[in-house]
Amino acid sequence: MPAPRPPALAGPAATAVAGPGRRRDGGRPRPPVHLADLDVPERRSAAAELGQQPFRADQLSRHYFGRLTDDPGEMTDLPAGARAALSGALLPRLLTAERELSCDQGQTVKTLWRAFDGAYIESVLMRYPGRVTMCVSSQAGCGMACPFCATGQAGLTRNLSAAEIVTQVVAGARALARGEVAGGPGRVSNIVFMGMGEPLANYSQVIRAVRRMTDPVPGGLGISRRSVTVSTVGLVPAIGRLAAEGLPVRLAVSLHAPDDRLRDELVPVNQRWKVAEVLDAAWAYVAATGRRVSIEYALIREVNDQPWRAEALARLLSDHPAHVNLIPLNPTPGSRWTASDPGVMAEFEARLAARGVPVTVRDTRGRQIDGACGQLAAAGTAAAR
Ligand code: SF4
Repeated sequence: MPAPRPPALAGPAATAVAGPGRRRDGGRPRPPVHLADLDVPERRSAAAELGQQPFRADQLSRHYFGRLTDDPGEMTDLPAGARAALSGALLPRLLTAERELSCDQGQTVKTLWRAFDGAYIESVLMRYPGRVTMCVSSQAGCGMACPFCATGQAGLTRNLSAAEIVTQVVAGARALARGEVAGGPGRVSNIVFMGMGEPLANYSQVIRAVRRMTDPVPGGLGISRRSVTVSTVGLVPAIGRLAAEGLPVRLAVSLHAPDDRLRDELVPVNQRWKVAEVLDAAWAYVAATGRRVSIEYALIREVNDQPWRAEALARLLSDHPAHVNLIPLNPTPGSRWTASDPGVMAEFEARLAARGVPVTVRDTRGRQIDGACGQLAAAGTAAAR
């Protein structure tokens, strides 16, 4: 039976056929279309194309987003024929867990996923007192080429589809609901787009995924929009687009240096959009959404951790609604880039605080399990070769 072709679905899932989609340009196959790629009207159209009553799509959606199951055997309110047709067409397996590693007494769980085409991605579930954060990947690999980052060294494989992004969250939500994560049953409360990839370089699929994560059941998972953080290295036009979406997600800007000379090297996209332009876009985002911006700053020993750079950063941020997250760099094996000494980190933090800039040193969960972004997937790719 042919799978439905969703109306006006842009991006990786645009050419829907049964099984992996084939691009007409002869390029990479695209992921099969999944329920989580579609909004409610698109799902109803898809059900109708399959010869089913449109409301059956809502029933399927309640199972997937509400009860967190994709097992047709558990969908007993759907007639057998509808169940087989809908689940067969709209719930293809997108990601297969290849490895799972945990630490922090089982409260941090990192999963290496293999996609339908063999691409590897990672997600991390982090349980804290009172909240559970899922860190998701938006691309397989990354094209931004930051020299200190494992993912950046491997380059971009491809954009993920919206459903491939949402699937990472659903898997975490399911494990929590079933009590499979240390600490007992729970829910995903926060999502950060800080896994592999530059989210705003996969704009349309990331926005679609955010809507699926935050629309109430049966449209999506019903997670608060305010609990979603989208990070970027500073793709200025895309920040402007995001500000106009009417989605009050938190924006996190990975700055890593206050001066263009160093940032041109650490974050090569800075050669296109300079620090001042990136921050202007961030302040416009604040004005449009009312959300404070997070400034991410990976502290790299003797590279960007000098006291004068702390002062320069403070000058850029004071009088703006920004919060700085200092991240001790998790070194990639074999790399010359490594974390700042604790004393240097403390002084950097103290200088920002003294200038009235809100600052915290980020808890580096998952460090023991190849925690730097892309390390697990890089290992998976190497093992598959
Ligand atoms: S730090 Fe982020 S943006 Fe830069 S290469 Fe790595 S994943 Fe991409």
